[in-house]
Amino acid sequence: MDINKIRNDFPVLRSNPKLAYLDSAAMALKPDCVIDAVDDYYRRLGVNVHRGVYQLSYMATDLYEEARSTIAKFIGAEFDNVVFTRGASASLNLVAMSYGMTFVNEGDEVITTELEHHSSHMPWINVCKVKGATLKYVPLDSDGRITVEAFKKVLTNKTKVVAITHVSNVMGYVTPIKEIIKLAHEVGAVVSLDGAQSVPHMKIDVKELDCDFLSFSGHKLCGPTGIGVLYGKKDLLEKMPPIEFGGDMADTVYTHEMTFKMAPYKFETGTPMIASAIGLAKACQYLESIGLDEISKHEYYLKSLAVEGLKKIPGITIYNPTAETGIISFNIDGVHPHDAASVFDNDRVCIRAGHHCAQLITRHLGTIGTVRASFYLYNTEEDVQVFVEAVKDAKNFFGQF
Ligand code: PMP
Repeated sequence: MDINKIRNDFPVLRSNPKLAYLDSAAMALKPDCVIDAVDDYYRRLGVNVHRGVYQLSYMATDLYEEARSTIAKFIGAEFDNVVFTRGASASLNLVAMSYGMTFVNEGDEVITTELEHHSSHMPWINVCKVKGATLKYVPLDSDGRITVEAFKKVLTNKTKVVAITHVSNVMGYVTPIKEIIKLAHEVGAVVSLDGAQSVPHMKIDVKELDCDFLSFSGHKLCGPTGIGVLYGKKDLLEKMPPIEFGGDMADTVYTHEMTFKMAPYKFETGTPMIASAIGLAKACQYLESIGLDEISKHEYYLKSLAVEGLKKIPGITIYNPTAETGIISFNIDGVHPHDAASVFDNDRVCIRAGHHCAQLITRHLGTIGTVRASFYLYNTEEDVQVFVEAVKDAKNFFGQF
């Protein structure tokens, strides 16, 4: 990978060459090609899709639906498996509010984990409360990982849904998801996989994983904000009811009756996020042109360098030194994570502090929050050095009190 060339694709890095942007797990920066694709739609077309009976609208519709095909291909899916949503949170909620509220009943069980982002497990707290089902948690091992063995302990014939993360946004661990999906299917359960932190960083093939649902956001994979994807198996999407009603998703409408279009359109009411979908497709092509395997290797390499650097500083707790991805969660002993993060900002290091919308794992770690650094394709060894020096600075700064 030619990192200098890659960095040159990102206007934020061109205008802030000294910035160590280590918050890509929250949001990735955007390359020119994505910004240009969004800009091009607004400048050249800027009209609605699906409804207009004129050339510009046909062209916008083609671009928008081509975007769906490109994104489907990116995850090994077919065109009509891809529902556009506002983001991973909306996708995960759609599964719970539609599939969960329809097919989970009293006495059934739903399995989730303490590693989930709130958007992955909270919708199921709601479903289980409303439907009288039981929500069970996979016990994490001593490192805070989900294991197949632990999953087997909570899986029963009553399990209807497994709502689980592919990569934790706090710990960066990769869930052994293929085995878990296979076991879930053996008892007839469906798996809703949270791919918000996996799809941007590793090659995913939904058919190979055999997951039933996969949710992710555009903004974490160098795409625009306000766009996400719900992948669903066709037979499941077909039997799921829509949860929002209105323009574009309807087929026939009478005073007391209505019918809907086929999936994915029955889940997409109103004017869609046209420019964002087009931008997201461009982001997928951009990442593919660099290579997802190369990107994963690069992030892991930088994360490992950073872990080695942090280990040499006394008084630092690293919560996930063995993570397989580009995420490090740590604390400077005795220092509130938000205080630590504000000192990093002085050193032009962008990192995140807090519970990262994952209070269960934060509590599991016995802390009020962590400082999180996350690496992506545009980060460099120099970013790692700046980061490690910033941790030393912060340590010394707080050591004075
Ligand atoms: N799941 C995980 C693992 C995440 O990291 C995030 C974003 N932090 C989400 C879900 C929710 O994504 P969004 O905020 O884009 O809806």
